[in-house]
Amino acid sequence: MSERYDIAIVGSGPAGITAAINAKIRNKKIILFGYENLSNKLYLAPRIDNYVGFHGIRGKELAEKFKAHLDEMDIEITYERPDNIYAMGDYYAIMINGKLYEATALILATGIQFGKPFRGEAEFLGRGVGYCATCDAPLYKGKTVTIIGYNKESIEEANYVSELAEKVYFVPMMKEEYSLNHNIEVIQDKPVEIVGSTKVEKLVLKNSEIQSDGIFILRDSVPPDQLVPGLLVEDAHIKVNRDMETNLEGCYAAGDVTGKPYQYLKAMGEGQVAALNAVAYLERRK
Ligand code: FAD
Repeated sequence: MSERYDIAIVGSGPAGITAAINAKIRNKKIILFGYENLSNKLYLAPRIDNYVGFHGIRGKELAEKFKAHLDEMDIEITYERPDNIYAMGDYYAIMINGKLYEATALILATGIQFGKPFRGEAEFLGRGVGYCATCDAPLYKGKTVTIIGYNKESIEEANYVSELAEKVYFVPMMKEEYSLNHNIEVIQDKPVEIVGSTKVEKLVLKNSEIQSDGIFILRDSVPPDQLVPGLLVEDAHIKVNRDMETNLEGCYAAGDVTGKPYQYLKAMGEGQVAALNAVAYLERRK
């Protein structure tokens, strides 16, 4: 049986880490899922003028201060990315590459991915389009797969898939350097549309086309109702009340994922409110 946490926090940006800090102060057993640099939106911000007390600070510098704060409070980040989270009634089941974590309460602080989905993306979701290559890779044994990669993690996923699939194409959407297995073909072009009949057949790019059995779009975050089935989403944001409660009991959300303004202090304030209300939820259940 897997260990049961009091609160699972998904996302290590300003909202998620503030939630983690406040839950830890209340002595809750937490697990925080995220990344080493915490959040690209934080790490890459060139200059921040509205973070009270640190006028003009660079995002990287602020991220380092946040990390030091987490270290001082012995809050570890679990460098894993939940693929699916299910409301089980009295707890949440968090699935990561076939591994299971359990938590009584859940805080979603996954941020948002700017940019519209590609044409055909929603239509072919589950019919050749996916958001987790490592989860679905076995389905593509001996087949052709295209990966549209927005982050460092997509490189690892592409390398893994290339061990199973017959052919892997990689369309890089990021600026960072990357190192792919030699059998992966890199296509430097702009994806436009996913085309097929009953299932995916090809990816149409600005200057080319790739015939493909599967297309994985690996962005920093997936649509929240895709991550947690049953979650109420309005205008691409998780619907919350002032207590940061979602429509699912014991599930809270904070930060950009709940809506505008997309700002650090708003995200952190919501992270705190979400954590305190998750703690109150746990107390009510005793
Ligand atoms: P994010 O910071 O986006 O963090 C969410 C994290 O969760 C990400 O690391 C994401 O990868 C991770 N995640 C997503 N899904 C999963 C999953 N399934 N498992 C694990 N982790 C997951 N705001 C200001 O107030 N002032 C500024 O000066 C400012 N400058 C900016 C400059 C730039 C270039 C950018 C891009 C943004 C700027 N912002 C600024 C906005 C600010 O960055 C965001 O509002 C803030 O980062 C939102 O915090 P968040 O915690 O909600 O989400």
